[in-house]
Amino acid sequence: MGSTSSSDAAANDAPDLFKTESEALEKARAIHVNANADAEQCRLALAELIGNFERLMRETRRLIGRSDRAEREMHALTQQLQYRATHDALTNVLNRSAVIERTIKALRADRAVMILLDIDDFKKVNDDYGHPVGDAVILGIVDCLRRIVGEEGVIGRVGGEEFTVLLPGYGLTDALQLAEKMRGAIGSHVFPAPVNRRITASFGVSANSARTDFDTAYGLADSALYKAKRGGRNRVEFANPQVVCPAMPGGD
Ligand code: GH3
Ligand code: MG
Ligand code: MG
Repeated sequence: MGSTSSSDAAANDAPDLFKTESEALEKARAIHVNANADAEQCRLALAELIGNFERLMRETRRLIGRSDRAEREMHALTQQLQYRATHDALTNVLNRSAVIERTIKALRADRAVMILLDIDDFKKVNDDYGHPVGDAVILGIVDCLRRIVGEEGVIGRVGGEEFTVLLPGYGLTDALQLAEKMRGAIGSHVFPAPVNRRITASFGVSANSARTDFDTAYGLADSALYKAKRGGRNRVEFANPQVVCPAMPGGD
């Protein structure tokens, strides 16, 4: 006999998970090879084997159930994490990085319009009524956007009170109409107490041909938004890519 290695010793120390079953199996094997075993011995060994086999089946079923449940929970958790990583916690619209990703994807495939909007004089809402009321106003504005945009576009929050609406496949004329509708919906919405008044937003629109990069699409919308703010707020302006960036083809 050779000496036992330490890993063998560790393996020998580990509890045998199937001790009862192994013993029943050993007994059944011994009876099986014993040509002189009598019927009663066979019956007892078989009964023990059946008992163990049934218990193993029950436990295996329970383990499979648990593992299926764990897999479902893991899947739900992964989806939750994925959602949180891509959505704004207050409004549930896309967050900034998801807007960038979604815009790049849309512009890789087709033309797309980027609408950038910013709530007018929003600081005053916070100053007058407090931050939680400001949050409620933001939610009300996102509701207005959702109502108008529907399935046509993708809403995102790219800053505190700045939002984007990406319209894949859209050209300038249709996008300007939709932006006007959004502006109208926000401007005519009466925010509940304590605000009790109308709040407006300014819009900048850029119409981008396929393969325009994100920075260009966003930068054009931003410069149009700046124009809308300078022009008195509560208005829609658009940037003409041919003027701002002569190398780029026009949107419409
Ligand atoms: P303008 O018309 O030029 O856009 O003026 P404004 O007051 O809207 O713009 P300004 O950039 O001066 O102020 C924006 C304010 O938005 C300041 C900031 O405290 C507030 N804000 C940003 N994020 C949030 C938010 O998540 N909740 C609330 N309640 N306020 C926010
Ligand atoms: Mg603002
Ligand atoms: Mg702003």
